[in-house]
Amino acid sequence: MKVRCPHCGEKSIPLINRILSTPGGPSRCANCSGLSYPGEWFSLATSLLSQLLLIVAIVGSIWYRSLWPLVGFGAFLLASFFVPAFLPAMPTTAEKAARTRKRTTIGLVLFVLAVIAAGVFYEP
Ligand SMILES: [Zn+2]
Repeated sequence: MKVRCPHCGEKSIPLINRILSTPGGPSRCANCSGLSYPGEWFSLATSLLSQLLLIVAIVGSIWYRSLWPLVGFGAFLLASFFVPAFLPAMPTTAEKAARTRKRTTIGLVLFVLAVIAAGVFYEP
């Protein structure tokens, strides 16, 4: 099964590539080499929501001295990779994708530091 490319309109992108594509790692069209990723509003919503949820997860982990809020945040991040496959794709460029990758890396580093901090302050 293949999904439509927003650049040339051909059904040329394998569904699995669409599922795995993100604003930072867009899927490439086999027909025109155009880059695309799932819906912009969804990416914006998940980006804002994940930043909010990350803060809630960090505070929750420290407050309850538990890793579960951070595990829940991880599950949310995982789900946000799969849901966009069923939404219309957005065209993008290599430069835009690189900028997004940089932002995502900073977010992941903060997340890992938060997990370490929660582990350090965890007292059963
Ligand atoms: Zn195309």
